[in-house]
Amino acid sequence: MEARVRVLYTGGTIGMLETERGYSPAPGHLEAQLARLPQLHDPAVERFCMPRSRFGRRVRYEVVEYEPLLDSSNMGIEDWARIARDIGAAHDDVQGFVVLHGTDTMAYTASALSFMLEGLKKTVIVTGSQIPLSELRNDAIDNLVGALTLAGHFEIPEVGLYFRDRLLRGNRARKVDAAGLDAFQSPNAPPLAEVGIEVAVRWDEVRPREEGPLVVHDAMSPHVAALRVFPGLHAGLVENFLRPPLAGVVLETYGAGNMPDRNRALLEALAEASRRGVVVVNVTQCLRGEVVPHYATGRALADVGVVSLGDMTPEAALTKLSFLLGSGASPDEVRAAMARSLRGERTEAAPPRFSRA
Ligand code: ASP
Repeated sequence: MEARVRVLYTGGTIGMLETERGYSPAPGHLEAQLARLPQLHDPAVERFCMPRSRFGRRVRYEVVEYEPLLDSSNMGIEDWARIARDIGAAHDDVQGFVVLHGTDTMAYTASALSFMLEGLKKTVIVTGSQIPLSELRNDAIDNLVGALTLAGHFEIPEVGLYFRDRLLRGNRARKVDAAGLDAFQSPNAPPLAEVGIEVAVRWDEVRPREEGPLVVHDAMSPHVAALRVFPGLHAGLVENFLRPPLAGVVLETYGAGNMPDRNRALLEALAEASRRGVVVVNVTQCLRGEVVPHYATGRALADVGVVSLGDMTPEAALTKLSFLLGSGASPDEVRAAMARSLRGERTEAAPPRFSRA
């Protein structure tokens, strides 16, 4: 039995070469490396095909190399749109997709794709590595073998991020280590799968297939920004920041969603922007936990029209805002949709239970 997977190679360390100016992507280099790796290519079979897995299946994959190959620090809305359109175009022809990507903005791309691909029926996995595939000691081979294996064997109709033996929901993931190989976590959500001696998919965490055909939303608004609150943040500066064409802001606040409520000018700047239709949303600066209305300093934000996003990551909040504003929805519609979970990006409050039943 054979599964077909499409690999979209956008760039990143995984296929980079050492140059005089440091690591840089080199066209053709990744495929040349793949051809000599027995886990990733069976030389007895036409390119590229993995050897038969313990599940009795071969994963046949085709690599689409992007031009130019990018360090993911250089990626933005147009690159997300290209990846989303390429997935849309091949959606019905293959079992799954692996997007090879740099680690620096991988959590943003995975989040953006989750919103852009509505009604996704196939497994989409974004992965990359901290060390290039061509180095003697690397994390690229394991990440690629794991991602291809999952995409070719399991129907997980979500955008996942695979790194160091774990498949995370893409819009829950964050890069937490600039150097370590265990570089990603989804601090507020369990992994969708863990790859050890066995491949353990947590089917109760995997979202059900969405109804309806796949719709690719490739119009993302560029008029969004993030603002990290810090002690001494000046109201005048915020007022300027909130001027048109800004349409949406992710406020990264303290702890459980708190903001200095004694600085009335700062709150008034946010209130005035909200009245003008700027959508302001609130996420925590902390790695773990959520925005909850426990403190007066947090409630002050709700009073000026700021929408609490619970435990959503800043990456998911920013890309979701860009997606919703790009759809042409009104500010109030965007506010309402930001507060709901569209693709599992937020833990929805469960009603309290007082017994097992
Ligand atoms: N700067 C690289 C990138 O994001 C880092 C990596 O791939 O690990 O493309």
